Amino acid sequence: VGNTPVVDITHVVAGHIPRGITVLAKLEKFNPGGSSKDRAVLMMLRDALRRGLLEGRTVVEASSGNTGVALAMMGAALSLNVLLLIPDTPQASAKVRLAREFGARVLLTPEREGTEGARRRAERLASEFPERYYHLNQYDNPANLEAHYLTTGPEIWEQTGGEITHFVAGVGTGGTVSGTSKFLKERNPRIRTFGVQPATPETRIPGLKHIPTSSKPANYRPELLDGVLGVGEEEAHIWRERLSRVGLLVGPSSGAVLAAVVSLARTLASEAVIVALLPDGGERYLQEES
Ligand code: PMP
Repeated sequence: VGNTPVVDITHVVAGHIPRGITVLAKLEKFNPGGSSKDRAVLMMLRDALRRGLLEGRTVVEASSGNTGVALAMMGAALSLNVLLLIPDTPQASAKVRLAREFGARVLLTPEREGTEGARRRAERLASEFPERYYHLNQYDNPANLEAHYLTTGPEIWEQTGGEITHFVAGVGTGGTVSGTSKFLKERNPRIRTFGVQPATPETRIPGLKHIPTSSKPANYRPELLDGVLGVGEEEAHIWRERLSRVGLLVGPSSGAVLAAVVSLARTLASEAVIVALLPDGGERYLQEES
């Protein structure tokens, strides 16, 4: 888990941003479970195991996406019982199949309740039957942010030889952008960091949350960031496709991150090295459409 590659994607955005700006992509799809969530899930499970919280218990988590897959995979590797609560949407089916393939139990929750509803159900299960369930709770579990503080941040610092000037990542739980920012700013307080969110409450980009209209997770720490950039579905789609056309297949939120990088780069006058964190690959999303 971790030690994912950083590649130069300046050629993808050249012509759209000022000269002298380098754009690097950290490709989280090379994690064994296929996304950045492997880091957070591994750290949260290690923390719970260390504290003896998983003795005789099932790990329960609400997730419609990568966290569920990462948890199912790690749970299988560590011989843990896993129960995932996943909203019953057409888009969820590929991830449900994957989770079940790893031996996790999946409970489909009503679509109209959304991920918030699935999360409330997970919380209720753990509080009603504490002897049977441990709620992993990626939104508030400090080990999520810590995973990125201890691994993603240091890797980016090393891989850019300390040359990074800007960091951009999507906000779901906020763990990635907050933990990585915390580390990078400790190394060099001049590094500027930005979260990426859907432009409006109605904009749907899997994995990303519209912050003003969502409940605030403890892992989202705006005081560690220099700003939040909003991106529309169309822009996210365009930039995801441009990455595909150079042979880099990534998910919709990666397109959103690149769109945000382009708008940020246009505001910069001097030379810069921008690192974009691309959280997952595109295969899972293509399967959904078939
Ligand atoms: N993009 C995708 C595809 C994701 O699955 C996630 C995590 N939910 C994110 C972005 C945001 O990561 P974080 O939860 O660390 O903010």
